[in-house]
Amino acid sequence: MYYGWIHGYYAYEASTSAANSAVDAASSARRAENALARLEDALDRQALIIRTLLSMCEAKGLFNEPEFRELMNEVDLSDGRLDGKFKPQAMPRSCPNCGKTNGKRAVTCMYCGAQLEGRELI
Ligand SMILES: [Zn+2]
Repeated sequence: MYYGWIHGYYAYEASTSAANSAVDAASSARRAENALARLEDALDRQALIIRTLLSMCEAKGLFNEPEFRELMNEVDLSDGRLDGKFKPQAMPRSCPNCGKTNGKRAVTCMYCGAQLEGRELI
C-alpha cells in the first residue's frame, strides 16, 4: 500500500504552520512598533507639558533653574540612587484593616478591599 500521501500531508501542514507563524510574528512586530510610537508620542507630550510648567513657574518667580535642579537631585536621591531617575523600591505592604500582605502596586487590599496607605502620587 502507498502511504506517500501521509508525508505530503504533513509537509503541507508544516509549511502552512510556518507561514502562519511568520504572519503572526509580522503582526506582533507591527503591534509592538505601534505601541512604541504611542509611547514616544506620550513622552514627547509629557515633556512639552513639563517644560511649559517649568517655564511658567520660572516666569512667575516661583523658582529658578538652579533651585529646581537642586530639588530634583534631592528627589532623585530619595530612592537611594542619584541616577537621573525616580524609581522608589515599593515593598509589599500590610493592609491596615486585615493585616494581610498585598502586592507593591496594590491600591486597595485584595482580601478586604480597604484602601492601602502610602501610595505615591506619581
Ligand atoms: Zn485587607
